[in-house]
Amino acid sequence: MNKKSILITGSSRGIGRACAKAYAKAGYHVFLNCVHRVERLEELAYEILSDGGSCTTVPGDVSNPDEVRKIFQIIEKECGGVDILINNAGIAWFGLLTDMTDNDWDKILATNLSSVFYCSRAAIPYMVSKKCGKILNISSMWGTVGASCEVAYSATKSGIHGLTRALAKELAPSNIQVNAIACGVIDTEMNGRLNEEERQDLMDEIPSGRFADPEEVAELALKLTDTPAYMTGQIIGIDGGFI
Ligand code: NDP
Repeated sequence: MNKKSILITGSSRGIGRACAKAYAKAGYHVFLNCVHRVERLEELAYEILSDGGSCTTVPGDVSNPDEVRKIFQIIEKECGGVDILINNAGIAWFGLLTDMTDNDWDKILATNLSSVFYCSRAAIPYMVSKKCGKILNISSMWGTVGASCEVAYSATKSGIHGLTRALAKELAPSNIQVNAIACGVIDTEMNGRLNEEERQDLMDEIPSGRFADPEEVAELALKLTDTPAYMTGQIIGIDGGFI
């Protein structure tokens, strides 16, 4: 395959979907992934192909190491590996820590943090063999400042920040860039639980006075993965001035 390739985990909707469309438009072959609503992935693939783009759907649960292995088997067969990995899949859990079950805790850690380990581990050998590659982790400002009633979520995103900085050092000798985007509040289904009053209260706390569109994150992602490999180990905020 002549085109550069990218895997975007959790690309059926929200930030992942916006990234998928942006990278396809920029000429990349995009591997699209999600686990639950696979029909949305098929719709997105149809949309990208109709617009003259190039993509493959690789459904699977990125919180499960065996499924990640299967996803990468398909990718390797098709094009050897990916030039860019965007670890985007994530879930939220709202409530008091004391109301969280062991299962809730394990699930959010596996989905938001272990998935970054599983996918990065699978993507790195190809990147090392080419002596180039980019890993971009989609994180949150709550990983920096912490959010009440989102303790586990905040912990997973702080974990991503640590992983990003450490992995960047490990991969810098191989010319592989590892960065994270720390998003503020982005207008996606993840925030669908908020009622109008809660949305307004949250907006009032954001200096920009609004939520961001997922396309704004995609625009930043595209620019970031186009920076020199020397710019690595960074956590870049897009939060309307919140932090
Ligand atoms: P959405 O809920 O809109 O999308 C989440 C995506 O992840 C979906 O495509 C979902 O697909 C996929 N997904 C969930 N679990 C898995 C899994 N186990 N395996 C594969 N795919 C999975 O969320 P956003 O677009 O808002 O969030 C994307 C990322 O951005 C997340 O990491 C989130 O934490 C982060 N972020 C979002 C913010 C916001 O305000 N929206 C703020 C800060 C960070 P499906 O369920 O169909 O499998």
